[in-house]
Amino acid sequence: MTDFAALRNEMVDRQIAARGVRSLAVLDAMRSVPREEFVPAGVREFAYDDSPLPIAADQTISQPYIVAFMVEALALQGGEKVLEIGAGSGYAAAILSVIASRVYTIERIHELAEYARDALARAGCANVEVIEGDGTRGFPEQAPFDAIVVAAGGPEVPESLKQQLKIGGRLVIPIGASRSVQELVRVTRVAESEFEVEDLADVRFVPLIGAEGWGGRDDKAPARPAKRESREERLQRRVDDACDPFLDIENANIDPLIDRVGDARIVLIGEASHGTSEFYRFRTRVSARLIEEKGFRLVGIEGDWPDAARIDHYVRHLRYPPSEWTAFARFPTWMWRNSEMREFVDWLRIHNSNIAEDERIAFHGLDLYSMYSSIREILRYLDEIDPETAAIARQRYGCLTPWQSDPATYGRAALTGTYRSCEKDVVGMLKELANKHWQYASHDGERFLDAVQNARLIANAERYYRTMYYGSRSSWNLRDNYMFETLQTLIEHYAPHGKAIVWAHNSHVGDASATEMSSRGELNIGHLCRRAYGDGVHIIGFGTDSGTVAAASEWDGPMQVMNVRPAIAGSYERLFHETGQPGFTLALRGADRELRLDLSRPMLQRAIGVIYRPETELASHYFQAVLPQQFDEYVWIDRTSAVDPIKTHELAGMPDTYPFGL
Ligand code: SAH
Repeated sequence: MTDFAALRNEMVDRQIAARGVRSLAVLDAMRSVPREEFVPAGVREFAYDDSPLPIAADQTISQPYIVAFMVEALALQGGEKVLEIGAGSGYAAAILSVIASRVYTIERIHELAEYARDALARAGCANVEVIEGDGTRGFPEQAPFDAIVVAAGGPEVPESLKQQLKIGGRLVIPIGASRSVQELVRVTRVAESEFEVEDLADVRFVPLIGAEGWGGRDDKAPARPAKRESREERLQRRVDDACDPFLDIENANIDPLIDRVGDARIVLIGEASHGTSEFYRFRTRVSARLIEEKGFRLVGIEGDWPDAARIDHYVRHLRYPPSEWTAFARFPTWMWRNSEMREFVDWLRIHNSNIAEDERIAFHGLDLYSMYSSIREILRYLDEIDPETAAIARQRYGCLTPWQSDPATYGRAALTGTYRSCEKDVVGMLKELANKHWQYASHDGERFLDAVQNARLIANAERYYRTMYYGSRSSWNLRDNYMFETLQTLIEHYAPHGKAIVWAHNSHVGDASATEMSSRGELNIGHLCRRAYGDGVHIIGFGTDSGTVAAASEWDGPMQVMNVRPAIAGSYERLFHETGQPGFTLALRGADRELRLDLSRPMLQRAIGVIYRPETELASHYFQAVLPQQFDEYVWIDRTSAVDPIKTHELAGMPDTYPFGL
């Protein structure tokens, strides 16, 4: 037996709420009406699919999302009298009937009118009346209506329907010059003879056939009413009005952005690629201001703990010498070893030299790809302060040493049973260290934190490599959970001053529940932060149209400077590019309702990681997102350029304390 109730809830979460339908009344109605009663028996199992389905007489039952979107656009409060044109299966009427007190629905095809009546009766909708006939003339017997919705596309807004609206009433209808593609518009009767028209979305409906529709009157497509602004044009205008434009990063006025951070405790700063100079430079400007003006105490990056520990040592002028090895020497080296980063690191060091030791800004890594450097660091620490435990650690971590050159193969070997799992050893070692808190912490609290974090990293990385073979979702979630927990540990460690800045990719910081990731069951650090800290989190996303980027063609491949293709149609990037602004910051959380609504229709968004594959860009780098839910703030930089990587030989002759090592 199919569990329709479960499918229905899943449909509401993934197809409707995730795409920005907010009205609780609509979401509840969508959760309560059994859609399977309205689709033909042969396609019942697809009742909750994210698409329209065929019904009799070549007509369709609309996609669930579009029904929810249209009903939301009617802005019903409950208790209204509503008219629908195009009953079809009766499904949309059933949804309306949950919210409104009385629903009239007109259907021109006899067979469908009967069908809708039966389905509505099965679903127990007693307050709906199905009328057979041409609905383009409306239903004068019951007029005026609080709301009218038309489920078929006409050439223009039928005058009769406008006249049957109450003052303040809303009419939602697809209108288009062709029979198959339309714009969904909302007409609001603001006064007796005054109507306001808004474009809501691009849609595809079956044709509205009748006296004031297609094929009525003299059957030629009537001229469209005076040219309205297209949806794109309106969106561009609204973005243009709302944004704070800038010409270049160094001179951008970021005061409004800093104000909007308010008293958030965590600011997550994204990037749309791992190799764009401008994103790092903008982050540096924002972070410096947050540190200077708002008491932010630590920076956490999407980089590994022991590598960041070397930078931390440098910027905080810490006492214990860092290790000798080179920080951020593994693929993708350019991500953190670049001159933009060096500027920020040097700024931090100078900033810290003027403040008390225990108030200095810390720099930490949240990621877990450094299993072997972490092992080395723990051994180095234990050798010095507790040689006996060091011997035990050597033996336990020894379990992982055969896989040093390719830890991913360890995961496979452990899972297939060709090699024993090291889980017990690494978890045991973490417990052992944690238990020594009092004994060790007296040496130096910072070093103990360092050792425990490395032990946590190893335990998580061990699991990460095993989990990888179950599929990308579980390992992605494990990694983001780990990053989030590390951030929490740090916030507690620096309490009560633990205000944190995080630098990580948009895909980690932008709330996963607002993107395609959620339909794959993926979460991320942005989502976890919002869940734990609510409004105390401020998320800043980035985007660009074109230029160059530092990236590789494949994992472990060499860094190349590649051309970024101009953004594709239908993407947020294209929209922002078309504003013609070289750069801007845009408040999303605080944006006015209209702009939020406009931007909330899911659009494509580009994400370039350490790999960039322009040949398969659409499939490899674009995904669907709802921007105003993903981020609280957005930074647009139209043309961008690749980061400037630091080559190892350029570092020769640098002072010993140089953070990136030799
Ligand atoms: N609301 C429906 C969607 C049905 S598709 C649902 O949820 O299933 C649109 C319907 O509009 C079709 O059944 C079509 O026959 C009907 N239609 C088209 N022109 C019409 C008109 N002038 N009057 C009444 N119904 C019309």
